[in-house]
Amino acid sequence: MTTRLAFRAWLLRFPGIKIVKIPPYRLCCISCTRTEIAWLRALSSRVLMDARALILRAFGIASAPVKVRAYVLGPSLSAAELPSCLGRASAVVHKRAVWAPPLRAVVLWAKESEKTQRSLVHELAHAILDMKQMLRPLPPAIYEGFAMMLEHRCCDDGGQWRLSWARKGCRLALERGHLQSVDELLSVTTTELSASTRYRTAVFYAQAMMLVRFLVSLGRADEDWTMLAEVARAFRAGGEDRGVALCRACGQDAAEIEGGYRASCGA
Ligand SMILES: [Zn+2]
Repeated sequence: MTTRLAFRAWLLRFPGIKIVKIPPYRLCCISCTRTEIAWLRALSSRVLMDARALILRAFGIASAPVKVRAYVLGPSLSAAELPSCLGRASAVVHKRAVWAPPLRAVVLWAKESEKTQRSLVHELAHAILDMKQMLRPLPPAIYEGFAMMLEHRCCDDGGQWRLSWARKGCRLALERGHLQSVDELLSVTTTELSASTRYRTAVFYAQAMMLVRFLVSLGRADEDWTMLAEVARAFRAGGEDRGVALCRACGQDAAEIEGGYRASCGA
């Protein structure tokens, strides 16, 4: 049975699943209370639309509709009740949300609304890039850093929180001598990430956000997100060292990029 069919079979256990239409998502609320559905509805569609527009612009994606659905699991659902077909289900518990490609859907755990909004915006970045076949060629440092920057740029009040969180993570890494170089950061794989400790993962995300923040600052205008389209093009072309690809996309040499990234991290 495909993941999608297995997931649908699991969904049938919950009669009267509520579907809340908030563009660009259709949020399907599973086992959510009336109050939870009310605040999900109150999540600003403007925030999600802004995030979507920025993703398309940053990566030069034509605005053809990208259908993404989001399943929001009520907090009363225990992890044990999650269907085993969602192989990474445990990630939902720890990370709050996961982009599940076989479902073409974001699955997330309903928490308080700020966190849910941040998770939706973050996973939307992964969803759209993946559906446009742009995710795989990119190193996790770029797409995770971008998703974090999107939270910073688009969320109602999560933005500042996310930036200070990342600054704190980089400061901690600097103090402990763990700050990674751009080359090290670009070579981190998803397998390594999922095997990382909580601290290492947090530091990775913090550094990735600061790397992408620096890249966005390199554009012609202030905060020129279209720089990321250049970066994506360079990685898609492949066939060369990742550091070299980044230099070519940015028009800077490795030392300049390293210096800018370190400054962005507060070094
Ligand atoms: Zn992510």
